[in-house]
Amino acid sequence: MPRSSVVVVGGGFAGFFASSVLERLLPPEAADLTLISATDHLCYSPLLPEVASGRLDPRRIAVPLHTRLRRTRIVQARVEDVDFDQRTLEVVADHGPIGPVSWDRLALTTGSITRTLPTPGVDTYALGLKTLVEAQYLHDHVLRQLELADSTPDPIERRARLTFVVVGAGYTGTETAAQLQRMTMTQLDRFPRLRPDDLRWLLVDLAPAILPELGTRLGRAAMRVIRERGMETRLGTTVTAIDHHSVTLSDGDTLAACTVVWTVGVTPPPLIRQLALPVHRGRLVVDEQLRLRDGVWAAGDSAAARDPFSQTDADYPPTAQHAQRQGVIIGRNIAASLGYGRPRRYRHGDLGLVADLGGVSAVARPLGLPLTGPVAKVVTKGYHLYALPSGANRIRVANDWITNLVSRPIAAQLGLVDRQAAQLVREQGGSGAVR
Ligand SMILES: Cc1cc2nc3c(=O)[nH]c(=O)nc-3n(C[C@H](O)[C@H](O)[C@H](O)COP(=O)(O)OP(=O)(O)OC[C@H]3O[C@@H](n4cnc5c(N)ncnc54)[C@H](O)[C@@H]3O)c2cc1C
Repeated sequence: MPRSSVVVVGGGFAGFFASSVLERLLPPEAADLTLISATDHLCYSPLLPEVASGRLDPRRIAVPLHTRLRRTRIVQARVEDVDFDQRTLEVVADHGPIGPVSWDRLALTTGSITRTLPTPGVDTYALGLKTLVEAQYLHDHVLRQLELADSTPDPIERRARLTFVVVGAGYTGTETAAQLQRMTMTQLDRFPRLRPDDLRWLLVDLAPAILPELGTRLGRAAMRVIRERGMETRLGTTVTAIDHHSVTLSDGDTLAACTVVWTVGVTPPPLIRQLALPVHRGRLVVDEQLRLRDGVWAAGDSAAARDPFSQTDADYPPTAQHAQRQGVIIGRNIAASLGYGRPRRYRHGDLGLVADLGGVSAVARPLGLPLTGPVAKVVTKGYHLYALPSGANRIRVANDWITNLVSRPIAAQLGLVDRQAAQLVREQGGSGAVR
């Protein structure tokens, strides 16, 4: 029997766990395993706000794909297209095209990119927080605003440098705003000419409440923390235009601001759009075994699987907990399709979410139990340590956290990332029948 070729595209939560299950279930003679991913690591994105606020070194949350994948051939490259008839992939590495790469079984686990809107200026001026590059850039950018505000003689420019607008009050936006605001407050003693009142942080969202994922009670608790810190919220409001030095809001207000962090949600990357397959809200429609079509599976943020536990007939949300568990299921189902084990359905109740607001503040809803303050903080930290899929990363993250208790994080702009590298990936128009 010729060996089958199993190819996984995307080395995030879903792809990494799919590949490690395939290694475990398939004997070496059964299949050649390949993982093609644009990065050589899994980014543990729930801790990106801690990288942006300088509390964690970026490498702490980068889990090298080779860590657990011993038998899989890992190719750092981008898949540009999929030919479902010929069962090949068009793959491009930094030095040029590789391939075509053939597959007998294919898993599409390409995650998501930041969702942009047709708001003028978003593509050019807004900063995202979806990758390590963006987190590192944002960290440097915010520190640089403090330096520039301190050195400018122009009061209007100073105000713009010290006004930070975060658009999107879901867990990414709220955590990012809360943690970065704390970072800027703690940095003020470096700049005797700047006063706490000069700093202005605004959290803007079209929704009527912050942190809707965590429910009304925890949303209110988070709101209290935000207000006590002197941060502002503009709810029921969106951004209508951004330029180099200002942000216009839908309530008619125009603020002088040099920083807009854009966290309004996610959408699958351009590859998914161009496949012209059935999608729901841009995600590939899969069945309950996460199968897309014969020999092809999809999981994680790129896949729309109906959530049987949802009251509103929705898909499973794009979160790491689902991506990881869906990855395990597609690994099992691909192995089953090659005669090893039986296929499984994906059914997973929500384990809850956690949001770290910096300092001793956090809100968490583990298994439906609402928690706030230091208890929520401990649960949040414990959950991330448990969920980080590598012992070496866990030790280093824990070590940074302990060090942060006794010594202030080192705040320095390293300038390793240029603006263009941190630019939001542009969403491209694409077809796809809407379910
Ligand atoms: C700031 C932030 C905080 C978050 N906090 C939480 C949280 O607290 N809890 C939670 O459950 N979830 C959280 N999430 C969501 C979670 O990170 C995602 O749901 C999860 O990463 C999705 O996993 P995935 O495997 O689908 O995609 P990803 O982990 O994004 O991996 C996709 C991989 O595919 C690669 N790729 C994409 N296109 C191609 C291509 N064409 N060719 C090759 N490779 C490609 C990418 O480079 C990437 O490596 C957070 C996300 C962010 C950004």
